[in-house]
Amino acid sequence: MERKKGIDKLEEETIWDIIVIGGGATGLGIAVDAAQRGFKVLLLEKNDFAKGTSSRSTKLVHGGVRYLAQGNIKLVVEALRERGFLLANAPHLTRVQEFIIPSYAYFSKWYYGIGLYLYDFLSRKLSLGRPRIIGKKSLLKAMPSVNKKGLKGGVVYTDGQFDDARLAIALAMTASDLGATVLNYCSVTGLIKKNGFVCGVQMQDEIGERALEVRAKVVINATGVFVDTILDMDDAASPAAVMPSQGVHVVISKKYFPGTAALMIPKTRDGRVLFAVPWHDAVVIGTTDTPLNIISEEPVALDEEISFIISHFNEYTDANITREDVLSVFAGLRPLVKTSNLGNTALASRDHTILVSKTNLITITGGKWTTYRKMAKDAVNNAAFVAKLPIIKCRTRRLRLHGFAEGIQYGTSLSVYGSDATQIRKMMIDQPELAEQIHPNHPYTKAEVVWSVEHEMAMQVEDILARRSRILFTDARAAIEAAPRVAEIMAGVNGEGVEWIAEQVTSFRELATAYLPQAQTG
Ligand SMILES: Cc1cc2nc3c(=O)[nH]c(=O)nc-3n(C[C@H](O)[C@H](O)[C@H](O)COP(=O)(O)OP(=O)(O)OC[C@H]3O[C@@H](n4cnc5c(N)ncnc54)[C@H](O)[C@@H]3O)c2cc1C
Repeated sequence: MERKKGIDKLEEETIWDIIVIGGGATGLGIAVDAAQRGFKVLLLEKNDFAKGTSSRSTKLVHGGVRYLAQGNIKLVVEALRERGFLLANAPHLTRVQEFIIPSYAYFSKWYYGIGLYLYDFLSRKLSLGRPRIIGKKSLLKAMPSVNKKGLKGGVVYTDGQFDDARLAIALAMTASDLGATVLNYCSVTGLIKKNGFVCGVQMQDEIGERALEVRAKVVINATGVFVDTILDMDDAASPAAVMPSQGVHVVISKKYFPGTAALMIPKTRDGRVLFAVPWHDAVVIGTTDTPLNIISEEPVALDEEISFIISHFNEYTDANITREDVLSVFAGLRPLVKTSNLGNTALASRDHTILVSKTNLITITGGKWTTYRKMAKDAVNNAAFVAKLPIIKCRTRRLRLHGFAEGIQYGTSLSVYGSDATQIRKMMIDQPELAEQIHPNHPYTKAEVVWSVEHEMAMQVEDILARRSRILFTDARAAIEAAPRVAEIMAGVNGEGVEWIAEQVTSFRELATAYLPQAQTG
């Protein structure tokens, strides 16, 4: 995946079959699907791949136990099927995770047990294992820091867990392997129309600082919470398609939550579920559901959201954490499908919707990371119909994603690179200095920085520390400390000078400070 080659292709007089706007889960899934059907695809992402919502999820590949309680069986069945496909197609980025719901009343463990039995039943052949009712002793063995007062036992069930931003990179590389041109740091600034129909986009190469025009038979708007900006370019009077809702996660050290099981709190004070999930040597706790009117590329956690998460976690454990114990806090915006007069976004549907404008612009919004493949299939079917492209069946259900290899287990050294790990190991053998870590507390090496610059389109220090490695999300302070070293390595690969290094370090430090709740509250 080489950015320069991709940019050069834009100079050619080409009419693409499909242009996809947005390089999150939805857009990247569409690029993979369309490229596999043999279409000529261009994907344009304004920032880095997965810079938006797609790097800020709870990291669950799941059917959604909560949606079952809301009676949305169709969504749960669909997501459970997709969970099964994703676990099979990307074993280097996903794994089966055990969750425990602790019970403080005798009745509740049976109540949740029955619900989870149904949840498992709906996954049919793709079941990850039956739920089990367990006693207090077994629960404490699996989850030693759980609150013991009044504990009656609990329910164990299984779901999927993954690395969201790394999956996005794997999708970008899969699309590229299949012939698609995928470009980060290319923003769409306008739509081109002919006879009243959209036939291309005006774009800006944010790195080369150049404006270009590219043409296509059909354009798909997959910009998450930003879909309305593109819809406005099409028709300034178009009604809003999304209602954004913010979700926040707090990350703490594993020492406050030892063991391998994840905690599921089935009912928070606002009627949501809350998870504490072991992830990359840390624990991710979340999330919230706060309706917002303003959307931003770097959403900031509200003070009350952080307090809400900490107080619920402390209620269910003996950990007694404070803001000082938080390693990182991150916020993401759900692109929920707009429904009128819905006050509580927690109740809003997580289904996806496809809109086809009078001008043939296709817009897709809503959905979940877990269902990205099905969303892509639906979007490409619509696009092919609208653009009168040849009818070719979607075949992504069994498509192995970039890096797939038998026997690789997510969570082991370099596993997120899948089969590419062999080449990274070779780099460390050939140049032993590349085996050095970029920060003493994290296993991430210099070789990985070089690899990501050369093969994964990492352009900025933030791309490395937030989405190629996940250090910003698991330990913001360490990410700030590692930034100068990362900038130097990147500058060495790209032939950049001291000015570039200084600018990168300053802007990353500014961004990363917002991931420290201590800094946020002063
Ligand atoms: C707090 C939270 C927790 C979640 N947890 C889970 C979970 O555990 N499991 C799960 O399955 N799902 C989860 N989800 C849902 C899932 O993360 C989202 O549904 C998914 O990431 C949305 O992807 P997207 O591609 O539609 O949007 P995004 O990831 O936001 O991608 C849209 C992209 O479009 C780009 N863009 C915008 N404007 C332009 C432009 N003009 N030109 C070019 N590009 C542009 C943006 O930069 C952005 O990268 C969660 C969501 C949230 C908010």
